[in-house]
Amino acid sequence: MPQTVDVVIVGGGVLGLATARAVLRAQPRASVTVLEKEDRWGAHQSGHNSNVIHSGLYYRPGSLKARLARAGGEAMIRYCEQHGVPVERTGKIVVATAENQLPRLELLAERGRANGVTVRRLGRGEIAEREPHVAGVAALSVAETAMTDFGQVCRALATELTELGATLRTGAPALGIGVTGETTVVSTPGEEIHARVLVNCAGLHSDEIARAAGDRPTVRIMPFRGEYTEIRPGRRDVVSNPVYPVPDPDLPFLGVHVTPMLDGGVHVGPNAVPAFAREGYRWRDVDRRLLARLLRDPALRGLTRRYWRYGVAEMSRSLFWPLYVREVRKLVPSLEGRDLRRHGSGVRAQAVTDTGELVDDFVIDHTPRAIHVLNAPSPAATSSLHIGAHIAADVFSHLGDEDLARAVRDSAAA
Ligand SMILES: Cc1cc2nc3c(=O)[nH]c(=O)nc-3n(C[C@H](O)[C@H](O)[C@H](O)COP(=O)(O)OP(=O)(O)OC[C@H]3O[C@@H](n4cnc5c(N)ncnc54)[C@H](O)[C@@H]3O)c2cc1C
Repeated sequence: MPQTVDVVIVGGGVLGLATARAVLRAQPRASVTVLEKEDRWGAHQSGHNSNVIHSGLYYRPGSLKARLARAGGEAMIRYCEQHGVPVERTGKIVVATAENQLPRLELLAERGRANGVTVRRLGRGEIAEREPHVAGVAALSVAETAMTDFGQVCRALATELTELGATLRTGAPALGIGVTGETTVVSTPGEEIHARVLVNCAGLHSDEIARAAGDRPTVRIMPFRGEYTEIRPGRRDVVSNPVYPVPDPDLPFLGVHVTPMLDGGVHVGPNAVPAFAREGYRWRDVDRRLLARLLRDPALRGLTRRYWRYGVAEMSRSLFWPLYVREVRKLVPSLEGRDLRRHGSGVRAQAVTDTGELVDDFVIDHTPRAIHVLNAPSPAATSSLHIGAHIAADVFSHLGDEDLARAVRDSAAA
């Protein structure tokens, strides 16, 4: 008779690991198994992102994102400091490059203040003092932004989880999910794991895992690649801290930013172009089955109708270098094409509704036996410790321990 664990978590990105940590810190006797299909932790979104600990500036006040970003960011900075993960409070500026962006900049300042972020308006002179190579008519200075390395955060979490007694498996894809009696059975190549609760943190595959578990996810995942370039050595002094353009409130993840990394590199990006495979890091990565399914899906037609202008602009800049360079030069006019080189990409697991709307807020679906994290876009890495606590509270509710669920929820909110 196989042993039944309390919780099996599918996905060893920052959210799966943070959830396991929150469960075990609240209940050290809980049995928790984390399954990761790759041979390392944080192999996909958590290891391919901008490494920014966000301040909570952009998000609609009251949304789950807004609530979890501010507190989650501070918790992440403390975590890094305590676990030897590099972290630096750099702050950032958001720059309006034209007069017609000023109303949006003002709106952003209001949002930030409503979310408890320290924002200060900068005029041309102050922009020039702080970032002499950046062109702007006005800017917001945001104090709380920090830089880290979320790949290292994942490795630190895995080390801590070993000490907390979790069972950690890399190279262990969840291949099949079934139900026997009261338990969910997850099959991996080496073993079958029976669990009282399944937590699906499978990122780009989370809708597939939900369907495999016999549930109907409320959204589908569409992969969107974010491509980066980096500034060649010798020109890296063009910015000293992260510099962002004013975002479109409907699509806040659009707009390349210039970000000095803690390892000395300076990244420009990411853009947002459709990926033709869930882990489609390059244009030539094509999953024909996924593509065929998407092309039949009415959501894609809705998405295209709504966002085609943005899509065409982003794809053009991805495929035609001069257009890309022109966009970057709006923010840093002294940069030339030869100062930049391509530098990898990350793929966002973007949830899309039946009618083709991009879902902005976090989405966590519940069924009697499972918790499915179906949308965890940026700033989910920033907020991961708090999101993990939020999910852990739900785990305890599923396990019938409402007192512990309440205690975990309260301590995450404190
Ligand atoms: C380009 C880009 C830039 C970003 N920048 C930032 C930023 O600066 N700051 C920020 O806070 N957030 C940022 N984000 C968002 C952030 O990276 C994600 O919100 C976060 O990493 C999500 O973590 P996750 O654990 O849900 O997903 P992932 O890290 O993708 O983890 C999911 C894991 O599940 C595993 N998996 C999938 N299927 C299976 C299976 N069947 N069996 C076992 N394992 C499976 C995968 O291999 C993967 O490791 C960015 C994202 C991208 C793509």
